[in-house]
Amino acid sequence: MKTSELIQYLDAYLEINKIPDASQNGLQVEGKVEVKKLGVAVDACQDSIAAAVAAGVDLLLVHHGLFWDKPVRLVGSEFRRVQALIANGINLYTAHLPLDWHPQVGNNAVLARKLGFEPATGFGASGAADGRCIGCIAEAQTSIALAPFLKLLASVLHADVRADLFGTHQIKRIAIVTGGGAFLLPHVLCAGVDAYITGEPKHSYFHFTKENKLNVIYGGHYETETFGVLALAEHLQQKFQLPFEFFHFPTGL
Ligand SMILES: [Zn+2]
Repeated sequence: MKTSELIQYLDAYLEINKIPDASQNGLQVEGKVEVKKLGVAVDACQDSIAAAVAAGVDLLLVHHGLFWDKPVRLVGSEFRRVQALIANGINLYTAHLPLDWHPQVGNNAVLARKLGFEPATGFGASGAADGRCIGCIAEAQTSIALAPFLKLLASVLHADVRADLFGTHQIKRIAIVTGGGAFLLPHVLCAGVDAYITGEPKHSYFHFTKENKLNVIYGGHYETETFGVLALAEHLQQKFQLPFEFFHFPTGL
């Protein structure tokens, strides 16, 4: 399909401009005018770009792109990433918060459903004019004990999790903000949830968690953010018969 048509579809489906974001979301680097194969990755790092070149993809879709709020100089590793994309005609499309928030293919909603919870309301104000949130509060039909819940989470994430457990032993209502959501912990206090799942831990919140008797589970910034790009790629494969490859470069963080 035409790259311009795919970009137009993605911008509309993800409502790319509706959520304030430090990431420059949308098409970041222009490449071939025709897309026959997609690549998806969490990070627009050199490894993902090299894998995209080797796999012959025409558009690489990532969660963490190359361009954020501050301008970067195209020198060193920044230059090499852009050079490899341009030399191989690969389009780079980035969806950061729009792919956290999204009710169907967003990191938070997909992770919640994989755990058997249904997103009920938003969690974590984004600053969007319409009040949409970054993450979600999700509920299960029946409560699940903490130990099997942790086992389930580790198996869904394919990784060990760090669990700071000072709260209830029965889990029915959870808040999720994938990636770097530790800064939202003060808001978890008034959210009335049994556990909070985010990606990356922050030392300064350990005692806060303990003293406020919360359950906070850190599933890894990388691992919790693989769901959105994969769900989006599956959606595009179904809708436009575009084959895709997932380039997996975990950071352990
Ligand atoms: Zn992230």
